[in-house]
Amino acid sequence: MPEGPEVRREADQIGEVLVNQRLTEVFFGPTRLKRHRKALLNATVQRVTTKGKALLIFFDTGNVLYSHNQLYGRWYIKAAGEQPKTNRTLRVALTTASHSALLYSATDIFLLNALELDQFPYLAKLGPDVLSPTIVWRDISRQLLDKRFSGRSVSALFLDQSFVAGLGNYLRSEILFAAQVNPALRPRDLELRQVNELARTTLILSTQSYKTGGITNHPSTVKVLRKKGFSKSRYRFAVFGRAGKPCYRCGGKISRISANGRRLYVCEGCQG
Ligand SMILES: [Zn+2]
Repeated sequence: MPEGPEVRREADQIGEVLVNQRLTEVFFGPTRLKRHRKALLNATVQRVTTKGKALLIFFDTGNVLYSHNQLYGRWYIKAAGEQPKTNRTLRVALTTASHSALLYSATDIFLLNALELDQFPYLAKLGPDVLSPTIVWRDISRQLLDKRFSGRSVSALFLDQSFVAGLGNYLRSEILFAAQVNPALRPRDLELRQVNELARTTLILSTQSYKTGGITNHPSTVKVLRKKGFSKSRYRFAVFGRAGKPCYRCGGKISRISANGRRLYVCEGCQG
């Protein structure tokens, strides 16, 4: 599933073609949404953003189109009126004079009122957004030390959107490795110094991933590997997907374990 950084990059791409543009054509696939077509026709898109893994398109009518791609949804951007070659089912098409933004396969789509956005169930339960422009590492430290979270394993917390929104499975492995935290530990097992380091690393790696298109390996390691001619899939991650390979930091072997139903990669040497 795409994680916060990937959804935010998708929002940026959609924003590039829709923001400040008037919708000349609107299509909704699901029957329950069809009645909203008229409300959005001729509306102007104000901004496209994300909250956690939800994508939000704001209109000058006060409406907000909420969509969550889950595992299967996908946005395409095409010239106005064109459609991609795909067997997927079209759910939403927003067309301006020049472009169409088309959402396929997703089912989690709602047209909301901007004033009610915070009460929408999925959004109401989200923790602070890891890519919010106003978030600081102390916000994440506060979450780690909060009674709701401090007694749970960090491997569980880093998948829980109510802890910090926008994290996901590859970020979990990469952040815990970079902060040198054993996934089985709970925040209450850590020294305050380690809690703060984990909080800072969470922000740094999530932002790095957003800016670089998913690269969470240490920038100096990336530089070396690129010089050697390795492809992005080889230099992208420090540990994720690298079971059996040597750790870039200590040379020990990366192992793959299962934690909270998802694969997790650790270096026992660095995180033991
Ligand atoms: Zn290591």
